[in-house]
Amino acid sequence: MEDYIAKAMVKNGQISIYAGVTTNTVEKARILHNMLPTPTVALGRVLTGAALMSQTLKAMNQTITIQIKGDGPIGGIVAVTDYKAGVRGYVHNPYFDLSLNDAGKFDIKGAVGSGRLNVIKDLGLKEPYIGSVELVSGEIAEDLTYYYAYSEQTPTVMSLGVLIGPDYKVIAAGGIFIQLLPDASEDAIVAVEQGISDLKPVSALINEGKTPEEIIRLIFPKEDPVMLGTCPVSYKCTCSRERMEKNLMSIGKEDLSEIAQDEKGAELVCHFCNKKYHFTKEEIQKLLAQSQE
Ligand SMILES: [Zn+2]
Repeated sequence: MEDYIAKAMVKNGQISIYAGVTTNTVEKARILHNMLPTPTVALGRVLTGAALMSQTLKAMNQTITIQIKGDGPIGGIVAVTDYKAGVRGYVHNPYFDLSLNDAGKFDIKGAVGSGRLNVIKDLGLKEPYIGSVELVSGEIAEDLTYYYAYSEQTPTVMSLGVLIGPDYKVIAAGGIFIQLLPDASEDAIVAVEQGISDLKPVSALINEGKTPEEIIRLIFPKEDPVMLGTCPVSYKCTCSRERMEKNLMSIGKEDLSEIAQDEKGAELVCHFCNKKYHFTKEEIQKLLAQSQE
């Protein structure tokens, strides 16, 4: 199945629901970053959360960045999405693994530790909107749910899942994201609570071959959700030589002039896709001259 998100409205728009399959996107992240299972699951959940959250954006130049900074072995997680679920991300430490927790699941809480979740929404205005909450669980979905409740005062349900095969490949990944209007009726709240109470883990549903539309109907079997279309999800890095030049110029003249002395030049690696960019000594000296203008 291709990766995509289906959007729907329930109870005359009192409930918005987004369900997405992100298996290929998370597998691509695993390969790009050469990650072991625990970091794959952690980054996969954050990338999936970002993809789902992108559906609340309204314009082409808008982005959402999710940063998780904790004291666990993963060090930190970053994911960025454009307004159409083109996502990219990385973890600070991709090369560790933890044993499964008592429930037999990946110990994401143990990997993340305690710390903070930041959500940076760049809506194309002068200043980005930054919301920051303490991590309440470290399992990602609960933390994003808490962020919406606390920082945006929007009742939200988020469920994110990544299933890993015996060969460490991603066999199923996806999530659901439900938001209620602040003045939603009791009836709508009950419909959401009932819908998610007996729901299997979303990664299990995707592994069974359920489509995002089928997952939405499974959650609201009595409501006849109004389908509002779909959006493809993909892993999309935005790095380029020009961006790397800007990064080099932003480190400051002193550091740049030091690099400009090195006969070997400099190699910059994109955090998001591990692409290498090499700059010769001459190229760096040229950038240094430009930054002094
Ligand atoms: Zn890149």
